[in-house]
Amino acid sequence: MSCINQGVCKLCRRENMKLFLKGDRCYTDKCAFERRPYPPGQHGQSRLKFSEFALQLREKQKTKRYYGVSESQFVKYVKEASRSKELTGTAMLKSLEMRLDNVVYALGYANSRREARQLVKHNHFLLNGTRANIPSIIVQKGDVVQVTEASKQVVKIQSAMQAVARRSIPSWLEADHANFKGVVKDSPSRDDIALQVEENMIVEYYSR
Ligand code: SF4
Repeated sequence: MSCINQGVCKLCRRENMKLFLKGDRCYTDKCAFERRPYPPGQHGQSRLKFSEFALQLREKQKTKRYYGVSESQFVKYVKEASRSKELTGTAMLKSLEMRLDNVVYALGYANSRREARQLVKHNHFLLNGTRANIPSIIVQKGDVVQVTEASKQVVKIQSAMQAVARRSIPSWLEADHANFKGVVKDSPSRDDIALQVEENMIVEYYSR
């Protein structure tokens, strides 16, 4: 059986890695990338030589798609990171990783980042006791993310909590599924970020 949403899975095949865009399915043998781990299209299995620019572009696209942000949002992350004391690429990745939608997904309250974004927008979460419905909020060390009382029975949240055993929760977060919440223990280090990307190439892409 082929993937229902071929479009989304094509993104993984294009970027030559699993971007985990379809939730539960990504962890099964129905994953399109597991079945066809090469780019889509007529020349997908040919050995192509990429220019430096094309390689930088792919790293940028891969990261953008992994976190599900638009080009204009992504540019803002790079600009803000360039003002940081840290390496620009690392600072950019940290900000993306600490977005509220990513944290909700990482804590196991959504099956994908896309689903997490939708759940946040629909008012299913509290941040430090206050309703938070903006997926791009950047969480801080010590923040508490919690499912609202009324949302504890939401099927998508329940199913994500059951499926979370398939993936590990990052060490910079602490999930408390019994109480439908999670704590940001620290900001992530580069090693805590699972995305395999050459972030310096993204910085080079935007400094052209
Ligand atoms: Fe599709 Fe998920 Fe596999 Fe990507 S990781 S190809 S989104 S099933």
